[in-house]
Order: sequence, then structure tokens, then C-alpha cells
Amino acid sequence: MSHEHFETLAIHAGQEPDAATGAVVPPIYQVSTYKQDGVGGLRGGYEYSRSANPTRTALEENLAALEGGSRGLAFASGLAAEDCLLRTVLTPGDHVVIPNDAYGGTFRLFAKVAERWGVRWSVADTADADAVRAALTDRTKVIWVETPTNPLLGITDIARLADVARTAGARLVVDNTFASPYLQQPLALGADVVVHSTTKYMGGHSDVVGGALVTSDAALGEELAFHQNAMGAVAGPFDAWLVMRGVKTLAVRMDRHCANATRVAEMLAAHPKVTEVLYPGLPGHAGHEVAAKQMRAFGGMVSFRVAGGEEEAVAVCDRTKLFTLGESLGGVESLIEHPGRMTHASVAGSLLEVPGDLVRLSVGIESVDDLLADLTDALR
Ligand SMILES: *Cc1c(COP(=O)(O)O)cnc(C)c1O
Repeated sequence: MSHEHFETLAIHAGQEPDAATGAVVPPIYQVSTYKQDGVGGLRGGYEYSRSANPTRTALEENLAALEGGSRGLAFASGLAAEDCLLRTVLTPGDHVVIPNDAYGGTFRLFAKVAERWGVRWSVADTADADAVRAALTDRTKVIWVETPTNPLLGITDIARLADVARTAGARLVVDNTFASPYLQQPLALGADVVVHSTTKYMGGHSDVVGGALVTSDAALGEELAFHQNAMGAVAGPFDAWLVMRGVKTLAVRMDRHCANATRVAEMLAAHPKVTEVLYPGLPGHAGHEVAAKQMRAFGGMVSFRVAGGEEEAVAVCDRTKLFTLGESLGGVESLIEHPGRMTHASVAGSLLEVPGDLVRLSVGIESVDDLLADLTDALR
């Protein structure tokens, strides 16, 4: 690929017109097996669709290009991607540092699944490099980072933690779901592996569940690909195609998500019923300067705390009409949710518990005036 700008790669990387027909979009190869030209005579390396499928290959090459990596791998969900990564790089007794504000499902994967297989973990505020250093053990193999975090929108300095990881002989893993590669490129900042829930901004239309891993370490890429095939939680052809279709418009969607979220955050910050707005684009946000350094813009997620506590926060979620009450994020339509009772119910009572008066918005790409009016009505 000679074109290097993100918007061009998003549309073309891994997606040459089909050799047989000239189809400009990679077809959905809804197929399990492939004719061999004599035993072992594979056409293009395809023998069985768990190992490789042309539609999935197109997506995997595209994802690698967008993150600036050498290897991309597409999975059935974000958590399937995370599980494959953990079982590739960890053995019993190894230790992992995870953020004190990790995605609830990621925390559950460590605390309820990996721990039973002998993986040890500690929680740290990854925005504080000293706190991460203090959490390291002589068996720490992975430092896990989300930035921005979910749902508190905390920011971690990726380059700084890449230094910490390198010194410790650990790998830095960055969950780039909230930013997307259009806003932030962790590999270029020193991360070893990028994780995605492609369910969110990459797919972008709330119509597919998927996950991905991208690395620029060729040897690790091979090991991950081995485990992807050996464990089998691959993205199906139609799901891979939907993510690829979504990614083509990622740049224009993200521009609008960011612009709308900025307006929403500013409106909420001035609203008397709102006690705090968590958005890295606001100058008062603790991570604003780091975010400005490592991100192109500040993303489409906004969280805020409501005066009147948990009951009032739940009531606001019930009152919006345009913001749909629902889990997930990153689609073209705006969503609202109460993390404490919904997405983050699984971390209740743990070190990762979120405040009860917190509301999370996934700001969509509708008319911002309609979005502001809906929130204003709901807060009245
Ligand atoms: C949704 C999400 C995941 C998990 O992905 P699934 O596709 O739901 O399995 C992981 N990390 C973050 C930040 C997420 O938002």
C-alpha cells in the first residue's frame, strides 16, 4: 500500500479489488473449506476457515495497517481477543498489573477466569507511573492499560508506561477501544499489543460483536496466530465484513463523535444539576494534557455525576428520549447508561467499583442540537 494516510488505509488496506471478479469490496467468503489442487496444493494458503478465511484476512490486514502493526488478528469478540492474548503470553504464576478503572468484562476475565489458572493480578492507577512500578513483582509479564478508561475517562500516558514495562521486562498491552486507531496509535507510542472490541467504534453501527489484536512484534504475532487457530474463537466471515464496512467511515464518524461530545461536555459542565463532567477534552480534566499529547481528539464518550445521587442518576437515564438506554458504545446512535447498575455491575464491591451517581454517554453522530435538547429535558 503506497497511500499512507489513515483515511485512505481505512478504505483500501488489505482490500485490493477481487482478483477473480473485480468486486471493489472483499466478498463475504461464507465457506468452511477450500478445494486443494492435489494434496497440500492450497490456493492462496486457504485450507479451513478457522485457520484462515479471505474475508477475515482482508480485515486483519486492514487492522494491522490502521494500528501501524505488522500483524492483525480478528476474533469473535473483544473478550475472545483478550483471552487469546492472555493464554499466549502468560503461564501459571505470572503476574499482571491491571488498571483500577478497567472495563468490567476485562476485570472479570482476570479475577474470575485467569486467576483459576494461576495468574496473579494487582490493581493500580495506571495514570500514576510510580503506582504501577510499586505494583510490579518479579513475575510481572503484562501491564494492561485502557486509555481513555471506561467509564471514568481517565487518561494514561502510554509512552511513559512503555518505559516502565520495558524496564520491568513486561509487555505493555493497550485496550484502544475507546479511542480507536484514528485518535490514538499505541504501537507508535511503545505498546507491544493493541486490543480492540471492534463491537464499538470500529464496527460503529451497533450491529456486530467482534474483537482484535494487533502487534508489530513478528514473533509474538506468530504465537498469537497459533493460539487463535488452536483455541478457535475467530471472527466469522460476515462479522469480519461488517467490521470492515464500518472501518471505512471510521475517520469521518470519529470527527463527528468528538465534535458532538465536546459540545455535550461543555453544556453539562455548565448545568446546575451536574456536579462533575468527566471528559478528557475539558481543560480541567486531570488527563487533559496527556490526552492532548497522545490523541488526535478526545473521543465520543462523556461521563457525568448527577446532583441528588444514585436515584437521580438512574432517573436521568430513564428520561432521555433520543439517547437510548442501553449498554455498549461507539455506534452512530447516542446511548445512555448507568454504569453502577449496568456495564459495571460486575465490579460492584471490588476496588473498581464506580460511583452510584455516575451516568455514561456514548455521544452519537446525530444533530448535536437535538442531543443537547434531549439531555436538557432529562436533567430538568
Ligand atoms: C466492550 C469492551 C470490551 C469487550 O469487548 P466485547 O466485544 O464486548 O467482548 C473490552 N474493552 C473495552 C474498553 C470495551 O468497551
